[in-house]
Amino acid sequence: MTNLKSLTFQGLTDLVKRLKWEDYRVKQIFSWIWQKGISDINLMTNLAKPKREQLQKECYISALKLSDRKYAQDRAEKFLFTLEDNHNIESVFIPESTRKTVCVSTQVGCALDCKICYTGKMGFTRNLKFYEIADQVLQVQLLTGERISNVVFMGMGEPFLNYHECLKAIETINSDFGLNIGARKITVSTSGIIERIYDFADFPLQAKLAISLNAANAELRNELMPINNKYPLKELIKAVKYYVDKKKKRVTFEYVLIKGINDQPKDVKALVKLLMGISCKINLIPFNAYPKSKFLSPSIEEMQEFADKLYPELPAITIRKSRGSEILAACGQLAGKVSNM
Ligand code: SAH
Ligand code: SF4
Repeated sequence: MTNLKSLTFQGLTDLVKRLKWEDYRVKQIFSWIWQKGISDINLMTNLAKPKREQLQKECYISALKLSDRKYAQDRAEKFLFTLEDNHNIESVFIPESTRKTVCVSTQVGCALDCKICYTGKMGFTRNLKFYEIADQVLQVQLLTGERISNVVFMGMGEPFLNYHECLKAIETINSDFGLNIGARKITVSTSGIIERIYDFADFPLQAKLAISLNAANAELRNELMPINNKYPLKELIKAVKYYVDKKKKRVTFEYVLIKGINDQPKDVKALVKLLMGISCKINLIPFNAYPKSKFLSPSIEEMQEFADKLYPELPAITIRKSRGSEILAACGQLAGKVSNM
């Protein structure tokens, strides 16, 4: 049986050709799946009954299974989804006044073992398929009844170690016949897989790039993010400059502020030296605690103090309010299991 959801627009085009159906059927079927979100072929009412029966004989439509849903005080929500092979992933819904964002996972777990991150603690199980990534947006849209406006690839996993499926997911999320979300409203966050930053710069869609920096000197970054041993800061910055030049777009650097670890005067100095002159924004994120984590979170005043020290050399700084931390839905807290918090 073919899972119709596992077919890209091109894949569906091939299927429709093989069935010798009219070309416009591709758009019809694709939008039944990705806009109306149906999982029952029989609901495709603009296909005549014999056509639906023909499709049903050889195809089905998968859907992520909702296994848990948690609501935070600040209206963020966390969804635990079970995949067809029974692995679990998490997605987060972050409503703001006009913006409704979904944070999607790209892998079951993560192999990179950053010292700050709960996902890293669970190790790596497998890459997600593109349709399992895009389906998170679709299911959250259906479950919340809110039209999703923004998507961030900042959930479980390293998107650039699952690059091709992530690109196909972006295309599906962006497609006029898919979720129809503008490419500029889609942001991919990477720990810094350098060759993929170059590839992403050459990718035609205008999706945005965020880099998880977290430390501006090699020694500390090696320690916090072991991937820095393989992809050192200097090369990372070179790749980011290529992206900025090629796309004519600002890049975002995420900096998780950890009390007493990367918030010292020497860290301010190193950050300024590293990023000065690069067209970028800096997003300061407070370290979010998770079960058995060892680091301390800074207070909001300490965050502000750190931001003030970067000014005026690095003027574009925002402090990200962490949403949904009491339900373990904030950055770095996803672990794909039912939590008892
Ligand atoms: N693997 C990708 C995307 C997912 S992580 C990446 O690393 O960029 C998304 C963000 O959460 C990263 O910027 C990461 O630095 C941050 N993060 C990880 N653990 C965190 C924690 N405990 N508190 C706050 N942010 C955290
Ligand atoms: Fe993986 Fe990103 Fe977590 Fe590092 S911060 S372990 S790359 S998910």
